[in-house]
Amino acid sequence: MKVIVAGAGIGGLTLALMLHRRGIEVEVYEQSPQVREVGVGINTLPHAIRELAEIGLLPALDNVGVRTRELFYYNRYGQEVWREPRGTDAGHPVPQFSIHRGRLQKVIHDGLVQRAGEAVVKTGLQLTGFMQDEGGVTAHFADAVTGGAATTVTGDVLVCADGIHSVGRRSFYPNEGPPSWTGVLMWRGAAMWTPWGDGRTMAIGGGMGAKFVLYPIAHPEGGRQLMNWVVNIKMADGANSSPQKESWSRPAQRSLVIPYAKRFRIPGFDHVGLVEATEQIFEYPMADRDPLPQWTFGRVTLLGDAAHPMYPVGSNGASQAILDARALADALAAAEHPCQALYAYQQDRLPKTAEVVRLNRKGGPERVIDEAEKRAPAGFERIDDVMSRAERQAIVGGYAGKAGFATDKDKVAELRVANG
Ligand SMILES: Cc1cc2nc3c(=O)[nH]c(=O)nc-3n(C[C@H](O)[C@H](O)[C@H](O)COP(=O)(O)OP(=O)(O)OC[C@H]3O[C@@H](n4cnc5c(N)ncnc54)[C@H](O)[C@@H]3O)c2cc1C
Repeated sequence: MKVIVAGAGIGGLTLALMLHRRGIEVEVYEQSPQVREVGVGINTLPHAIRELAEIGLLPALDNVGVRTRELFYYNRYGQEVWREPRGTDAGHPVPQFSIHRGRLQKVIHDGLVQRAGEAVVKTGLQLTGFMQDEGGVTAHFADAVTGGAATTVTGDVLVCADGIHSVGRRSFYPNEGPPSWTGVLMWRGAAMWTPWGDGRTMAIGGGMGAKFVLYPIAHPEGGRQLMNWVVNIKMADGANSSPQKESWSRPAQRSLVIPYAKRFRIPGFDHVGLVEATEQIFEYPMADRDPLPQWTFGRVTLLGDAAHPMYPVGSNGASQAILDARALADALAAAEHPCQALYAYQQDRLPKTAEVVRLNRKGGPERVIDEAEKRAPAGFERIDDVMSRAERQAIVGGYAGKAGFATDKDKVAELRVANG
């Protein structure tokens, strides 16, 4: 069996590594001229890290990422709404990592080329179309610089792991149009700064219309640490398509962001100073797409953001792509026919990820601060007077359960709430 993967993002590379381990031939085609360390911070949850640990990547992840220890939710005045341990500190067998997205991608890429050789990833080639019949699938790639036809590849299966603007998805759903946007813009950046607390802690502050996210993405060095931040602001209401094509690499003006950053307080941390010290700021419209009825069409399927782009809340984008990769690799290794495997993969993963897309639209676990703001817009003395602990636990732990990373404690708390 030979599998062609379009897209060397976190999803496509993880799938290739897992297929190689199962003795399945795989080739990855990536439109960028090389696999570069692009992006800023990303969080990867324990259920996905378990998969990466199983393929031997834990030591490499530990070299470049931070084992997230605790997560705080604040209102915009810096008053604590919720706190919880994360990763191994929450009782998971493996950590959650706060990590630079490009370094996470590099860890997986390096793992793949070390095991399967450099030639397995072919860069500068953009999937433009494909054809399939009973004997196999033929994928067409263009030179990503000139746009001219570059190569045609045949295989048994084509996996489109080509992100939110997936060519594969568009060919099956030509009338779908651009991603949907509810008017929230995200500005993101990272800079070397004084560590916050123990250097392994994450914070999300704000409320319904605006949020500030803060977490470290590298180990401290000489009293400084690479700190990632995000400002999310609701700019427009009722819009359904964003003003520009979604790109994770669009630069933004610092002067535009500072006034918004000043709306928040993170206790004991000069987050405005961090934003001011950030050299490159990126702007991204918080966009997703409606869950699809079908990902698999014969020998071709979708994976990761191509299949289920979701709002980047709740740390699930990369995590769900990794879980897709595991499910698809297992299905391909077990099935007698590739089409059977692709169908089984869809039946397993489509409903689970559709649920996460829907939950993220409602705010994901961060809904706990939205709810606190709704009830106490001017702040509070005691959060327990605003929302009970059980209510807060139900929002945060309920999300973890549905996204597949609940601890036993979350499950017990959910049962208690369900039973009054
Ligand atoms: C440049 C970039 C920066 C990002 N930065 C962040 C970040 O800082 N924080 C965050 O939370 N999330 C970020 N994301 C999104 C995050 O990586 C994904 O949500 C998640 O990892 C799921 O990954 P994926 O592999 O499905 O898709 P992606 O990570 O989007 O990867 C898709 C890959 O496919 C390639 N590709 C696209 N079209 C074609 C084509 N026609 N032919 C061949 N290759 C193609 C792309 O170049 C890309 O390498 C970023 C994504 C990208 C592409």
